[in-house]
Amino acid sequence: MDHDTPDHAGAGAPGNPGIPGGRALDAPLAEAWIRALAAAVDAHQRELTDLDSAIGDGDHGSNLHRGFTAVLAVLDTLRPADAGAVLGRTGSTLISKVGGASGPLYGSAFRAMGAALPPSPATPAEFAGALAAGLAAVRRLGGAAPGDKTLVDAYAPALAAFEQAVAGGAGLAGAASAAAEAAERGMRATTPLQARKGRASYLGPRSIGHQDPGATSAALLFRTLADVTG
Ligand code: ADP
Ligand code: MG
Repeated sequence: MDHDTPDHAGAGAPGNPGIPGGRALDAPLAEAWIRALAAAVDAHQRELTDLDSAIGDGDHGSNLHRGFTAVLAVLDTLRPADAGAVLGRTGSTLISKVGGASGPLYGSAFRAMGAALPPSPATPAEFAGALAAGLAAVRRLGGAAPGDKTLVDAYAPALAAFEQAVAGGAGLAGAASAAAEAAERGMRATTPLQARKGRASYLGPRSIGHQDPGATSAALLFRTLADVTG
């Protein structure tokens, strides 16, 4: 998709009349995103685990699978009424159910996103702010900077692309598509890096030559956002 072309696909969509930039993030869309992400984690569980076996302890796929299975159960029971509650519940469930580094990191990100969203459906600009709050939470908790070979290496460029697309007039779909492509580029760019955070850093130079598992799951997070908004 052309990143510079404002996205008109959702403009004036039923249910979100008059929102600049088109479609807004409401509770059903937030829930669709989390369900799509859970399905992607399920489909890619083996790949995530294999990547983590190369430079970690081989549990990234199973960690996230356990977490998102619990998230689906929570969503089925609670049916949160707004997008912020959907993402907040997702975050607290990941924190409570996942022992590995990725549970608290993604959990904090979703909680921060949820807290940053307004009670009404979020505009693309408001959602960009929530995604930024999510990255800030990851960086506060984990202390990783871009280039440390972590999920930040996919998330940070994805956020920058999302923000740039929104500033250029894109709607949710266009911004999410740009973000997904940037996340996937960032994910691939982790391969030649040496890990400076997390378990992979224990390997020192031997972490070079392997794609980071967390950057790979972060790319799924943005790809599924693009899928449900597009
Ligand atoms: P664990 O390392 O505890 O086994 P996982 O295997 O579930 O947890 O997740 C590993 C991923 O978590 C790594 O690939 C990396 O992307 C991410 N990660 C680890 N530590 C950090 C950190 N301090 N900041 C950001 N991301 C991190
Ligand atoms: Mg692991």
